[in-house]
Amino acid sequence: MKVQTGGITELSTVDYPGHVASVLYLCGCPFRCPWCQNFTILDKKNCQEVESDKIVEKILENQPLVNGVCITGGEPLQQLEGTIEICRALKDADMDVKLDTNGFYPEHVKRILEFVDFIAMDIKAPLEGEKYAKATGRKDGKEQVEKLKQTLEIITKSDVEFEPRTTLVPTLIDSKEDILKIADSLKSYGINRYVLQQFRPEGGCLEAEYENYASLPRDYIMDLAREAKKILPEILIRTKESGEEKV
Ligand code: SF4
Repeated sequence: MKVQTGGITELSTVDYPGHVASVLYLCGCPFRCPWCQNFTILDKKNCQEVESDKIVEKILENQPLVNGVCITGGEPLQQLEGTIEICRALKDADMDVKLDTNGFYPEHVKRILEFVDFIAMDIKAPLEGEKYAKATGRKDGKEQVEKLKQTLEIITKSDVEFEPRTTLVPTLIDSKEDILKIADSLKSYGINRYVLQQFRPEGGCLEAEYENYASLPRDYIMDLAREAKKILPEILIRTKESGEEKV
């Protein structure tokens, strides 16, 4: 089956915890987050149509040095059948598979669970329609929040390793109040782990305005993380200053 892809990064040590991983970018996304850094692959005009078995073949060339694959986007689950095909083939070849998702496709998540080892999911804002709409550049945030909640239900009932994460974007999602609301929501699903990551404008953003915002400092993010730690036991932060840190 053919998929639309934005390419492969052959070696990465930062995209799949505990792995030397290849990163596969799949095109298309239902959101338009104004700070999106992968904006060139949100629609298909900058993408290539490639047979999924060719992609798998290419990735497997780097085994055993590469022991995992991070499938990201865009939103990979917009191309569900192709993504399943790739994940299945990678699992058959003994690769660990991590999926990055925005949580908008609960039914697709349900179908792909058996073919992935790890899911990282963006929590773009507190689970409130207005805030979610603003963070994702869409008019109706209510539907997004509903779908996200369904996805959380599905993942937390599964055995797949799970990492919910929020990118702290100046002016959009940067307050203690917002982070504590998200941490509270995660707790209500029985989730222990939460990752705060730093927004990095260096590579450009969907809306140019966001390229003018500086990343929030590591110490500010650490302070927010310490507050979140009062709600959830396992908090991590990721910043360019200090890499990944447990709080
Ligand atoms: S940051 Fe937003 S718009 Fe960009 S790929 Fe992720 S969900 Fe889609």
